[in-house]
Amino acid sequence: MQWLGRRESGNVEDRRGISGGGIATGGGIIGLLIYLAYSFFGGGNADPSQVPQLSPQVNQTTLTPEEQKAEDERAKFVKVVLAETEDVWNKLFADAGKQYSEPTLVLFRDGVSSACGNASAESGPFYCPSDSKLYIDLSFYQELQDRFHAPGDFAMAYVVAHEVGHHIQNLMGTADKINRLRAQGNETESNRYSVMMELQADFYAGVWAHYEEKMKNILDKGDIDEALNAANAIGDDRLQKQATGEVVPDAFTHGTSAQRVYWFKKGFQTGDIKQGDTFNSPDL
Ligand SMILES: [Zn+2]
Repeated sequence: MQWLGRRESGNVEDRRGISGGGIATGGGIIGLLIYLAYSFFGGGNADPSQVPQLSPQVNQTTLTPEEQKAEDERAKFVKVVLAETEDVWNKLFADAGKQYSEPTLVLFRDGVSSACGNASAESGPFYCPSDSKLYIDLSFYQELQDRFHAPGDFAMAYVVAHEVGHHIQNLMGTADKINRLRAQGNETESNRYSVMMELQADFYAGVWAHYEEKMKNILDKGDIDEALNAANAIGDDRLQKQATGEVVPDAFTHGTSAQRVYWFKKGFQTGDIKQGDTFNSPDL
């Protein structure tokens, strides 16, 4: 992606190097699950003070000057990607006669507090609907390459666009609707809805890539393959499962790699938001 010199989003909270917040390494998912339980059954917005805080156990990473430089470069890159998603979604919402409300990106290292609870870097990037913020630890960029064998800048761009996809679901009311349905259903059904949410976020990431190419023409040859490769290799749930060590049958928790690739591609090829109704897809 030809990103150097392009606009960086101002909707960024850089919390790298800030310690505290009651972070427990490996406890992030528990925090998130606790929050979800509150919002499912408590109705309305969860009060963050009601979320039980996990005992602080901060492992602060110290970076060498070289590492710091590399990380700053990555920070710049994700800020540019966020700005690019703003341009595309502002336009698509305006075209539909609506107004896009831009999300905030929180950059953190090691651990972070969100309105959805505490999270550690192991949680992987996530989106919190109650504060409309995307949370990303930049070490994930390296992890994509080393652990998931999904190198390339556009692999990371896809991850950002996927989290923005969850924000779109939040704005469109899909997240609320699905959370209500999930609360009513049994676990299997609830997991099925999760799959549909994840695949739709992949679809929206594809839609973004479609307009990124059409409006900006800054994609490099191979960028889409990098995104597809990443879609094939990762998912929120897969990362979370690895973080918690919890073994849940794959079929119940997330779409297959093929499904992720399929929905990203569909978004990229059509650029048509209406075609992203994963909830009424006969295959799911
Ligand atoms: Zn996701």
